[in-house]
Amino acid sequence: MGQVIKGKPVADAITESIVKDVEALRMKGIVPKLKIVRVGAREDDLAYEKGALTRMGKCGIIPEVLELPLNIAQADFVKELKAVNDDQTVHGILLFRPLPKHLKMDEIKFLVEPAKDIDCMNPINAAKIFEGDKTGYSPCTAQACVEILDYYGIELQGKKVVVVGRSMVVGKPLAMLLLDKNATVTVCHSHTKDLPEVCREAEVLVAAVGKAEMVKGNFIKEGAVVIDVGININADGNLCGDVDFEQCVDKAAMITVVPAGVGSVTTSVLAKNVVKACKIINSL
Ligand code: NAP
Repeated sequence: MGQVIKGKPVADAITESIVKDVEALRMKGIVPKLKIVRVGAREDDLAYEKGALTRMGKCGIIPEVLELPLNIAQADFVKELKAVNDDQTVHGILLFRPLPKHLKMDEIKFLVEPAKDIDCMNPINAAKIFEGDKTGYSPCTAQACVEILDYYGIELQGKKVVVVGRSMVVGKPLAMLLLDKNATVTVCHSHTKDLPEVCREAEVLVAAVGKAEMVKGNFIKEGAVVIDVGININADGNLCGDVDFEQCVDKAAMITVVPAGVGSVTTSVLAKNVVKACKIINSL
């Protein structure tokens, strides 16, 4: 049976290092602040927000929530967002997505101040990932996968890595982050032919598909490292990943769990990015 990888030790290690950074900033009279902008009150946003508020508290970061009405007009939303951008006490902005359909994401994504855009919504920060420019911010979930691989000492240089999924929040940025670590990266999607065969090539396999337990035992190369980003509900109504854990755990050398895997690292990456933003904004 492969080693089962949990997110908590990774999150704890990141938190420990943030606490020291925040203490040093506070000594200089600077207190990092995260502003969460939420439109409406979707259950999954509220669940993530609760975790984020707890994590910020542990790290010594001030969290504030701006809740906006579901029917807010585009012009009013833009005004609110610009006010958050202009607030000198705010260092990081997290805007929950997806926004209601009437709000024009194509305009809004460019409006989040790049220096405060700690979950990589602004295409300027996406471009920085593609350029390998470390002054930007990676989406927290993509970065959480890298933190897990780093923490568990998984060498990526020269490794064959397959990422299943090409969204702008997980698959694509993660592929670039792994490329930056000198892995040989293949990105798969819904048009990929013979997905199991492509995945079987992987020494490190990342599943970010959004399909409950789609990655089966025959996708896994013996001894592979398997990172499961998915959060789904299975036929029994239980939380599960994109990977069929029972089928894959014996073949994999290491495998993350769902829940308590990648998802439990994302808020600590969020906190890390707030501190990074705070340092950049204060020219430290
Ligand atoms: P998404 O935007 O729906 O993207 C899914 C990707 O999977 C797309 O690129 C899609 O391909 C691909 N795909 C769908 N069906 C496929 C198939 N049968 N074979 C191969 N590829 C297929 O999802 P996402 O936002 O990236 O999220 C992915 C998963 O991660 C979801 O389960 C989500 O809940 C989870 N998630 C977890 C966290 C966390 O904190 N752990 C955070 C964010 C998301 P096309 O591009 O061709 O459509």
